[in-house]
Amino acid sequence: MAKESSAFQIDENKRKQMQAEQEQIRKRVKQIKHQILVLSGKGGVGKSTVAVNLAVSLALSGKSVGLLDIDIHGPSIPKILNLEERAVQATGETILPIEMTENLKVMSIGFLLRGSNDAVIWRGPMKYQMIKQFLKDVDWGSLDFLVVDSPPGTGDEPLSIVQLLENADGAIIVTTPQEVALSDVRRCITFCHNLKLPVLGVVENMSGFVCPKCGEMTDIFKSGGGEKMAKQMNVPFLGRIPIDPQIVQSCDSGQPYVQHYGSSQAAQAFKEAMLPLLNLEEKR
Ligand code: ADP
Repeated sequence: MAKESSAFQIDENKRKQMQAEQEQIRKRVKQIKHQILVLSGKGGVGKSTVAVNLAVSLALSGKSVGLLDIDIHGPSIPKILNLEERAVQATGETILPIEMTENLKVMSIGFLLRGSNDAVIWRGPMKYQMIKQFLKDVDWGSLDFLVVDSPPGTGDEPLSIVQLLENADGAIIVTTPQEVALSDVRRCITFCHNLKLPVLGVVENMSGFVCPKCGEMTDIFKSGGGEKMAKQMNVPFLGRIPIDPQIVQSCDSGQPYVQHYGSSQAAQAFKEAMLPLLNLEEKR
């Protein structure tokens, strides 16, 4: 009997602790007007690239933006933004994001891993705890937008973040024009529907190649599949981002592409894809 009552006490204490943690997350999230998840059905389609360039575009348009990278197995935001050597500051239970500019703050699981070559073996509940700790402890202050770069697929991390945020504005889904990627993206859209997370739109990345010499556009992979699929699945289409070798170079050298190549076709496409976000209604 005594054993049972102490087990009950532990359960009760755990429940109270979980409640307090969720309350703390609500307090933090309340200061953020819009939370946007960037998802993709599979890796390598340019999800992190789109997340970074949307976040930077929003910041360049005068919004205060946080970029959160929860890709536990392959955080790439620190590399894309040349922040790999930066250490985050923590005081007590508060972690401060890195301030890239006055209105762009960045936080990545990558900052908390010792070396970029570390392989993390974490099971579902540990991932949930990690993401929960991020949301609970990272002090973003007031933000207009939090852009979350989530790992590819429909696994533990996107599920955790959707549940913990409780009321995110929605997801932007990144795909490439090839059919294989498109079947994955359908699964991603269904995942959002099942979680009642609005799909803000689909971005077709690596859609055509613009010749740097003559400016002519060539469709290396099939183009337009993302738009067709978005229509079929009844979700908005946010545009096509062409292949641009400068994007690879920017990602590798840590210079935000939309900032450094602002007049390029791809940068314009990133900016256009961002426009519907500026029209999101305030939730509260
Ligand atoms: P994911 O997050 O989906 O795994 P990344 O954003 O890391 O993909 O992009 C994978 C690679 O593709 C990176 O080297 C990136 O620079 C490159 N890339 C992404 N989008 C484009 C594009 N539109 N044109 C050229 N290279 C791109």
